[in-house]
Amino acid sequence: MVIIATTYKICRRKMPLIKNEREISGGDFLKFRDGDSLIKLLSNLYRVDSHYIESQKTSAICVGEDKCVLCKRGIRVAPQFYYVVEVQTSGGLKEDGILRLPEPVFYETNNYEKNMPENESKRNYDWAVNRDSSGDRVVYDTQKGSKIEIDEELIKINNELLIEKIGDYENTLKAKYKQLVNSVARAQEADPSEVSGNIPF
Ligand SMILES: [Zn+2]
Repeated sequence: MVIIATTYKICRRKMPLIKNEREISGGDFLKFRDGDSLIKLLSNLYRVDSHYIESQKTSAICVGEDKCVLCKRGIRVAPQFYYVVEVQTSGGLKEDGILRLPEPVFYETNNYEKNMPENESKRNYDWAVNRDSSGDRVVYDTQKGSKIEIDEELIKINNELLIEKIGDYENTLKAKYKQLVNSVARAQEADPSEVSGNIPF
């Protein structure tokens, strides 16, 4: 019970109700800092497939390759990988909360996971991640760390938190998708050949 109380306390402090995606990209998630971090994954994965529309500076949900208007327009699907984590930086700063795991880090932990015994997962280890944003693009180096104890009860609670918080976020992405689809439909109605540049992305 102590764990439950502590978790909710942490969540309230870090995770105010998310009202729109602009807010979510601000202070509500943990930020990945340059340098060395040690990460513990304290939930299962919550994956959201989205599109980032550069010209609109906005993201929208991907409703599936076969019917997604944004896929059909050739906009890349950007998978978003969310976990509740504990992050400790080399400076000793320790934080709990929801982290969007960068794609290269997620895929690297997957690579390690393939070689783990069947009863283990990436949650059984902590992960030493180095982030370097000094070059043209951000570079991550991910190494498997030490084995850690899994608290199944805590993982269950954190999964529920993810469903609630990222579920809210997903709803804003769905609303954005509808808006974009409507704007495409209107533009096509106005000009079936789509040559007038009415479609803004
Ligand atoms: Zn799509």
